[in-house]
Amino acid sequence: MSAATAAPPRKAAVPKIRQTKLLIGGEWCDAASGKTFATMNPVTEEKIADVAYAGEADVDRAVKAARKAFESGPWHTMDARDRGRLMNRLADLIEQNQEELAALETLDNGKPIRDSRAADIPLVIDCLRYYAGWADKISGQTIPIRGDYFCYTRREPTGVAGQIIPWNFPALMTAWKWGPALAAGCTIVMKPAEQTPLSCLRLGELAMEAGIPAGVINILPGFGDTGAAIVKHRGVDKIAFTGSTETAQFIMRDAAPSLKRLTFELGGKSPNIVFADCDLDAAVAGSEFGLFFNQGQCCCAGSRVFVEEKIHAKFVEQIVSRAQARKLGDPFDSETTQGPQVDRDQFDKIMRYIESGKNAGAECLTGGQRVGDRGFFVAPTVFDRVTDDMEIAQDEIFGPVMSILPFKNLDEVVQRANTTCYGLAAAVWTRDVAKAHHIANSVRAGTVWINCYDVFDAAAPFGGFKMSGMGRELGEAALANYTELKTVTMNLK
Ligand code: ADP
Repeated sequence: MSAATAAPPRKAAVPKIRQTKLLIGGEWCDAASGKTFATMNPVTEEKIADVAYAGEADVDRAVKAARKAFESGPWHTMDARDRGRLMNRLADLIEQNQEELAALETLDNGKPIRDSRAADIPLVIDCLRYYAGWADKISGQTIPIRGDYFCYTRREPTGVAGQIIPWNFPALMTAWKWGPALAAGCTIVMKPAEQTPLSCLRLGELAMEAGIPAGVINILPGFGDTGAAIVKHRGVDKIAFTGSTETAQFIMRDAAPSLKRLTFELGGKSPNIVFADCDLDAAVAGSEFGLFFNQGQCCCAGSRVFVEEKIHAKFVEQIVSRAQARKLGDPFDSETTQGPQVDRDQFDKIMRYIESGKNAGAECLTGGQRVGDRGFFVAPTVFDRVTDDMEIAQDEIFGPVMSILPFKNLDEVVQRANTTCYGLAAAVWTRDVAKAHHIANSVRAGTVWINCYDVFDAAAPFGGFKMSGMGRELGEAALANYTELKTVTMNLK
């Protein structure tokens, strides 16, 4: 077997930290202030590395570098095929460094190596290759207007994109943001989350190695103030943000004076509806995955599991046994299926919600406590007999806490599924095609999965209704976030 096809070791090697600086105009540099912050290991609660902390002066330099790369090129003025080729070269380099990137993601975020290997990094590669294919296919239309004119549209890059991402899928969120922006010919000022800057910085190194020109991708690790400085900067044309609904509200206010284009991918409280006529084994397995995957730290987590009364007892028995069989522990061990939560703040918030569920009278069937006394491990938790008004049925918990809500009939469950302020995703489990499509049409959510959960593909748009977001990521739809439509009319007389 060649090295490329050899199965990865059961225990992944802890990766070397290669990059902790800011990337501005193709150079790696310290923050102007000299400030750094520590990125922490969620298993040991110890520091992994000190990372440069970008301030306003760094944001200003990065935006100027991005503007220069946008205006004087070569990026959007480059042959679009060459842009696509560079993106594919970056995808190839990521593929060659797949194990290192997976391990870096596991180290910084705490997610099990089996997930970083099988999901995060392969999806990063897929996403960049998908958008590399779009680079030379972004075209306008000819429009038959009244009179003797020739009218057509062009889709031109929006300009400098400020991109602010969270910590739950650090490398994948980087790819979701870079892919459509680079394909469209935009340049980038990216801020990774303060909890997980390392994989984004390594991707920046690979982007430089791939030959993406200086200034096209700039990376500024930092906290909320770094993000706010990017949002307020007049040289930024557009903000793409993934994170909490509350932060999106701040961003909207900060972006108002310069009327920046905004796209948001935010929180959720997704209904996962299980009918009595479903394939029960598949529904239980899918519900476990839909909630517990990534330690429950998914914006589209199926956190409200509506179960039809007729199968409630059976469903509960099976889901509890699956929750108890989850393997918590060292995320570098490929047998581990659940790692720690990302940091103390998230851990404390989840524990508060568990208390709130218990106090509100929901039945805690399993879990409900911390595991161990070091690292942010939370036992897989299942609450039964949750009612719509409880906090745990309304708020995004972002942890391994499932709420089961029994229901009696279709109309009732549709109405209840739509009661939160969110509308990111939903799922339905049934063998009845008409019922499945009725749910798909009636639930107010950007994505509906039928007899499956968390099926993502770079080609399929993803985003929220209501307070779950604005605009769509992925697919052809995301290109609209990074292009302006220009109408050109020529007098033919
Ligand atoms: P979470 O609760 O998932 O950590 P946040 O919305 O707080 O989500 O953070 C997501 C990203 O937004 C992070 O990169 C964070 O640093 C950044 N951020 C936080 N506050 C602001 C702000 N006021 N303006 C811009 N970015 C911000």
